[in-house]
Amino acid sequence: MADISSLPSDPSSLLEAFERARRRIAKASRAAGRSTDGVVLTAVTKTQGDAAVEAALALGQRVFGENRVQEAQGRWSARRAAVADLELRLIGPLQSNKARDALALFQVIETLDREKLAEALAEAGQRLGVRPRVLIQINTGEEPQKAGAAPRDAEALIARARALDLAVEGLMCIPPVAEAAGPHFALLARIAERQGLSTLSMGMSEDYETAIRFGATHVRLGSALFGARPSPNVG
Ligand SMILES: *Cc1c(COP(=O)(O)O)cnc(C)c1O
Repeated sequence: MADISSLPSDPSSLLEAFERARRRIAKASRAAGRSTDGVVLTAVTKTQGDAAVEAALALGQRVFGENRVQEAQGRWSARRAAVADLELRLIGPLQSNKARDALALFQVIETLDREKLAEALAEAGQRLGVRPRVLIQINTGEEPQKAGAAPRDAEALIARARALDLAVEGLMCIPPVAEAAGPHFALLARIAERQGLSTLSMGMSEDYETAIRFGATHVRLGSALFGARPSPNVG
């Protein structure tokens, strides 16, 4: 269960929430026979105010997830210049015409899910002089309303992204809310293994321990760290 009792702007409860999450990550890693430092905690700061963001930075957190480009610009543009080792990861859907803005702010785009976007990212990368780092988002549940490439289209999209010289680092998924997450994580891990990809961004506040069991390298935690979000915004 996500802990919704901690106030996001209270530094001591945020410290407790981070420590609790790190303990659980280490415990789930050990139980899976994995090294305890093989999982990166991505702190999801969408909808959070300055106090929560500053408190997380003060605790040494450096890897953050955001699901909207414009909202993330407001939260991070100025801070990025001040915090050298910040790593911002886009975890929400991206429109092709925002590819350049996204690449200018984020180190990793986790939500590449179609050829047109791969082409837009390649072009934007050339203009900005960076090689885009991407994960391919897979719609493991094949839900019509959800972003992500269908599992059967993964191979072709990965090949296309590699041909465009994008740095394809791995895969990302968001399992259907009403289903057990395990089989979806297992499917993502199978596709990654087949494609020789090492990064698996899977697992959120409610299911990150399960995701670690299936090989997650990045877990994306929002409410487990910062408490319940003020407004619904799950991308
Ligand atoms: C909001 C969000 C998260 C974090 O969700 P919690 O359940 O609050 O941990 C993780 N991944 C994505 C893609 C999100 O949009």
